[in-house]
Amino acid sequence: MKLAVFNDLRPGLVKGDRIHDLVQLVPDWRPEDPASINTFLSSVQVHASKIAAVGETAQSVPLSSVTLRAPVPMPTQILAAPLNFVEHRKEMQGPMTSGPGTARELGFFLKASRSVSDPSAPILLPDLGGRRIDFEAEVAVVIGKEARAVPAERALEYVLGYTLVLDMSLRMTETEREERTQRKSYATFTPMGPWITTADEVPDPASITLKAWRNQELRQDASLADLIVGVPDLISRASHVVPLDAGDVYATGSPAGVGQVQPGDRVTVESPQLGVLTLDVRTRPW
Ligand code: MN
Repeated sequence: MKLAVFNDLRPGLVKGDRIHDLVQLVPDWRPEDPASINTFLSSVQVHASKIAAVGETAQSVPLSSVTLRAPVPMPTQILAAPLNFVEHRKEMQGPMTSGPGTARELGFFLKASRSVSDPSAPILLPDLGGRRIDFEAEVAVVIGKEARAVPAERALEYVLGYTLVLDMSLRMTETEREERTQRKSYATFTPMGPWITTADEVPDPASITLKAWRNQELRQDASLADLIVGVPDLISRASHVVPLDAGDVYATGSPAGVGQVQPGDRVTVESPQLGVLTLDVRTRPW
């Protein structure tokens, strides 16, 4: 299934070029209430067949007629893997990083939940005097149920599905060395979408590939088979630190080819398994 959120935070099922309204499956749904979506996401693994059945009969409209929202508009937690591809580790040398190590040694970091933005919304660059702000195109895992100290062999049971994110990142300099969480948590620094592709459609996350373009230039071309720490180990290891719950999002790390963006740029991320994200970059008006 392809689970989307659209218009006033309604859950929807995408089938072909149409989206089916699933709001009847969320008894306490309230417009613009992201908690309604987390409640819905916590029910998906339990009620997958019911959702599919409702999707058969629910009212549908053309996908092109709705505004897609982030498929997890307000994750309780956004975890992210730093430096999880060998070639990206190599390009991140010098003052831009805080030292040696990969995701294997460093574990995860957190991003602010309010940094999430919709797949159709622009990335807004704050005025930071010309500091370098990069895009990092990543596959994100969406958790489907509570995961607490799960072994890697069972970690995929806790995966609801996968989506695309950009992990927008303000880079450090020799003298400007803010915490990673702050540098990656500006509003709109976690665009997400276009929807969640449920795990049954992607039995092996290592099979997921993605490409990312800055304007016409292909910058990233990667496979999750090349992750230093693969998806099962990411989930297992984090779940021994803190329980993960339905709607938590784990960005798996950026491949090589990250690059600076400027207002006026367009970043496109495409995965044959997960869809397409197209994001315009603008100056933040506030
Ligand atoms: Mn990243």
